[in-house]
Amino acid sequence: MEAVRQGKAIMVSRVIPVDPFDLVIFGATGDLARRKILPGLYRRFCDGQMPPEARIIGAARTEQDNAAFAEQVREAIETFLPAKKRDPKGLKAFLERLSYVAVDAHGEAGWEDLRATMRDNVVQAFYFSVAPALFGVLAERLHHFEIARKDARIVVEKPFGRDLGTARELNATLAAHFDEAQIYRIDHYLGKETVQNLMAVRFGNTLFEPLWNAQYVDHVQITVAEEVGVGGRGAYYDKSGAMRDMVQNHLMQLLCLTAMEPPARFEPDAVRDEKLKVIRALDPVAPVDIVRGQYRASGDHASYLEDAEAEVSRTESFIAMKIHVSNWRWNRTPFYLRTGKRLRSRKSEIVIHFKETPHSIFDADAGNRANVLSIRLQPDEGIDLRVTIKEPGPGGMRLIDVPLDMSFADALGPEVADVPDAYERLIMDVIRGNQTLFMRGDEVEAAWAWTDPIIAAWEARGDRPVPYHAGSSGPEEAAILMHRDNRRWREI
Ligand code: NAP
Repeated sequence: MEAVRQGKAIMVSRVIPVDPFDLVIFGATGDLARRKILPGLYRRFCDGQMPPEARIIGAARTEQDNAAFAEQVREAIETFLPAKKRDPKGLKAFLERLSYVAVDAHGEAGWEDLRATMRDNVVQAFYFSVAPALFGVLAERLHHFEIARKDARIVVEKPFGRDLGTARELNATLAAHFDEAQIYRIDHYLGKETVQNLMAVRFGNTLFEPLWNAQYVDHVQITVAEEVGVGGRGAYYDKSGAMRDMVQNHLMQLLCLTAMEPPARFEPDAVRDEKLKVIRALDPVAPVDIVRGQYRASGDHASYLEDAEAEVSRTESFIAMKIHVSNWRWNRTPFYLRTGKRLRSRKSEIVIHFKETPHSIFDADAGNRANVLSIRLQPDEGIDLRVTIKEPGPGGMRLIDVPLDMSFADALGPEVADVPDAYERLIMDVIRGNQTLFMRGDEVEAAWAWTDPIIAAWEARGDRPVPYHAGSSGPEEAAILMHRDNRRWREI
């Protein structure tokens, strides 16, 4: 299909069908499968990306037949996809692709049935959308019952361990049954359109890469702000906190893609080798460069403790930190990371703040401005570059910033505004056998190796998070972290 927009970008959208597959979703009755995985697969189906032989097999302990499972999936699609993203004609045909097998990861029941369902000569993929304690168990069972072929792929959800020791253990368990080339550790941030666009912007233009270093970049800000609190998953969250839940994986991945050297090719191991080098170049973070926060009740919002149903807790629902990547490219250029729950708005972005011009030829009252490139992940995915121009009109030379804004929706039209959800893209990458946007085992371990001492130091000191008001932009101390360096956070 070719879409040409008047006066706007010309784009050719190609939906490339994938090979026929059997995709087994363990945990098919669970929250993630219902909210993301199954609606995502339905969208790919409606887009014509699934060949007629593709099949999706739900698996969980609940005893039910194919019809009951199909009904559950129909409900999930209608609940979690807005009407404009649904195609009623496609729905019936999609539901016909589904079947269900009742399987208990710990028991013997169901495994022979599952094996009987699987076909030869199609791509074989198993999505582990179950509690992390079951990841290793499922890998072992698939092997034991001789269900997974030598070329089968497994998709492993987060969290991947809770420290270096547990991540190593899980890697070893998976490696006992599957090769690294078969293991897809998912981080859905890597499936976002803008995250891949970050690579396109950096490595597809001559404009940015020469400036992408300590000589021209003053600092980088990476923010993942959420409006929601921890209510509903408070018990889980309280054992984890923002560092484990967000920084070790999602923010670390965004940092890697921003800071890495150009890979020789856009190929899985070339990209992942470069990301790994970034993690290994991270300096330890001094306590004065970290702010941990926990939200207090404010307005209609309950406090963290109420949401987590805990009387006391030292778990952080917010973290801000200043990080150094110790290499030639980034020498003394700080990366400021910030993420939290119950903040003023939902906003994720990577922002490159360039240095001011070394010398201003204009009068002092003209002002001196610096360029800012922001890559928005949500909401409204897009890229914005602020450039300095003269303020129009009389009154002499006064400088202002104006945005060169590329909202994907504005620039490329509604078809592209409708970009596939991260899960849709990533599942199709699994079927295609492309691991570029998945984390390799050594990357995950390196990220934990950097994270562990930071958490251990908090625990040894009995560190308590500082309070911030629910619905605010985080604790005052986070603003001070920036002010100290004569910088300020972008507004949330
Ligand atoms: P969930 O709602 O608790 O669902 C768990 C699923 O596992 C259910 O389908 C459950 O069905 C099945 N299950 C439980 N015990 C089983 C067993 N012994 N054998 C076979 N199946 C079993 O969990 P979730 O929120 O969907 O999360 C799934 C995974 O995704 C977790 O690793 C989580 O950390 C990760 N994740 C979730 C989200 C999210 O937004 N939900 C986001 C990121 C990552 P039965 O009770 O019928 O067996």
